[in-house]
Amino acid sequence: MKFDLQCSIQLSKKADELKEELEAFIKGEELFSSLESYELKADRLHLRIVSDVKRSHEIALRFYKKFAQFFGKKKIGVRGIHIDRYHISFEAERQPKKAVSIPFAEVTVDGTLIAMTITDKGEEFLRQNYVDRMIRRIREKIDMQHYEGKKEYWRAIWQSEEKEPVWNKDPSEEMQRAGWITLLGKGKWFYFPPAAALMRAMERIAFQEVVMPLGFKEVIEPMHVSFDTWIKTGHLEGMPGEIYYISEPKNREAEEWERFVDLLKIQREVDETELLKNLKPPKAGVCYAQCPNIYTALAGKTIAKASLPLLLVDRSTPSDRYEAGGKHGIERVDEFHRIEIVYIGTRDQLLQLKEKLVERYRHVFENILDLEWRMATVTPFYLQQAGIAGMEEDAVKGTIDFEAWLPYRGDRSREWLEIQNISIVGDKYTRAFTIKTQRGDLWSGCSGIGLERWMVAFLAQKGMDPEHWPDEFRKYVEPFPDMPEFL
Ligand code: ATP
Ligand code: ZN
Ligand code: MG
Repeated sequence: MKFDLQCSIQLSKKADELKEELEAFIKGEELFSSLESYELKADRLHLRIVSDVKRSHEIALRFYKKFAQFFGKKKIGVRGIHIDRYHISFEAERQPKKAVSIPFAEVTVDGTLIAMTITDKGEEFLRQNYVDRMIRRIREKIDMQHYEGKKEYWRAIWQSEEKEPVWNKDPSEEMQRAGWITLLGKGKWFYFPPAAALMRAMERIAFQEVVMPLGFKEVIEPMHVSFDTWIKTGHLEGMPGEIYYISEPKNREAEEWERFVDLLKIQREVDETELLKNLKPPKAGVCYAQCPNIYTALAGKTIAKASLPLLLVDRSTPSDRYEAGGKHGIERVDEFHRIEIVYIGTRDQLLQLKEKLVERYRHVFENILDLEWRMATVTPFYLQQAGIAGMEEDAVKGTIDFEAWLPYRGDRSREWLEIQNISIVGDKYTRAFTIKTQRGDLWSGCSGIGLERWMVAFLAQKGMDPEHWPDEFRKYVEPFPDMPEFL
């Protein structure tokens, strides 16, 4: 890496008469050894700092302090440091496939040599350490160019027996036909009593057969998730295009909304321009997954050893995701209902818990829902390179996906749907949220039980007629509510 910084220090007045003293000062200070050149011109001191070890912008700030002392003794103030031109070059691991761009800088590429030029920036830019993050982001963007279009690593680890489905119809279409569900806006469904009873049955099964026996304790969390939380979990950089953003009104006074109401009453529709005038920019979004708010609630806490592993579960808030084109029936929706459990403990505690979870889930899918299902370890492509998660059979970190066959989509060799997962993420979130214990490292993970997904998998294999449902399941829906009659 090479850091070549040209910057200038603004002085409160001309200081040309100090040239010789300044030279003596610089020669006398070991600190200035990486000062390539300097020039004092009227009320500005121009510096060029070239370094291939330390970053020049850090050096510049230390120089700035020294110069402030020097000029201070001469009754001259320093009025800030300015980047005139900052040229940084570094080697990328792989050659970019196409041009790379980044805010605040011009980027040029020559093979694996990346050059970034920043011009005309204020002191804040140096102090905020943007430069390091810009280098990291460029490296990440180059990596992403290489992963594009590559699939996540997937390996089956267990598969149930084949089970003959009672039909091969699409449950969402059939439920719509029967009036059990109806679409209210894009990807958001209304569940009439039979469908609601099914979903609640799935919830009770998950609670009574998995969550409670393993000792999870219920929490209730807000549906709003702040940007601060998502910056820590990475959701805001990971999936900004899937979030439903929340705006607060600027004001709740009736006068402020008068024109909006006038237009509404006259036009019988919302005037969007007028509405936007009355809204603040979003600072939060609707729950995307439940774990981020749980981590936020635990941020900064030290968990007593006696409370480990800490096992929490939320079922209070639905998750919303902007799925755009990918929606289908109730299995890929913009608002879905999930139970999410979060576990925090030592690596060994989580390893044990993972085994117990798999065992309980297996009990549900085998003995209660009687599904044709399977488990796979999955590793996103970007983690495969790093050799993390899921690569070895016994790796604790990583994700297990649970999938069920959807007969209506086609052959069992291909048509499977992820219905839930179990993840262990190591210390990623306990670190991000500074969650500690008395001694040793804490790991965490979560498992999201998608109730719509359980329901689709079940109906796709077992049909909508309770006659064909397994006895163990029927217990959970009896008495099964009738559909109201509409004339
Ligand atoms: P996909 O790759 O299918 O989009 P994902 O990786 O986004 O899934 P996760 O964030 O891991 O899913 O969420 C875990 C669980 O949440 C899934 O196993 C599923 O049960 C449920 N889920 C996720 N997205 C949806 C959706 N759009 N509709 C219904 N359930 C969903
Ligand atoms: Zn989660
Ligand atoms: Mg998704």
